[in-house]
Amino acid sequence: MPCIFCEIIASRMPAHRVYEDEQCLACMDIMPITSGHVLVIPREHAANIWELSAQASAALMPAAQKVALALRKSGLPCEGINLFMANNAVAGQSVFHAHLHVVPRVHGDGFGLRFPPHYGQSVQDEILQQQAERIKEAL
Ligand SMILES: [Zn+2]
Repeated sequence: MPCIFCEIIASRMPAHRVYEDEQCLACMDIMPITSGHVLVIPREHAANIWELSAQASAALMPAAQKVALALRKSGLPCEGINLFMANNAVAGQSVFHAHLHVVPRVHGDGFGLRFPPHYGQSVQDEILQQQAERIKEAL
């Protein structure tokens, strides 16, 4: 089965495009979380952030910023914006071509992040230090 986002990029499937450049394309999400929800999709097929080239990755944020600025000017409901990228099914990814969500927010829109019950408790310095060391070693 072809990748739906590659099909959109190749114009073999329709999409409501709002922005394009050499590296990426932005279009309306057909199943929007909130009104005006836009997807920024790199032209390069990569399943997720781990596979995405540094060049394609670097192009996503400027495109998302352009879309965010446009959303605010557009007159569409937009009191705030969340950017998020889901990587792997466990994180909510459903189309396995990396993409960045630009989600307009208004009070009472029903969307939100659900934090686990332990959230709000700080972690011991030594644990944070160990975690930081492991990440630094992996860089
Ligand atoms: Zn693809």
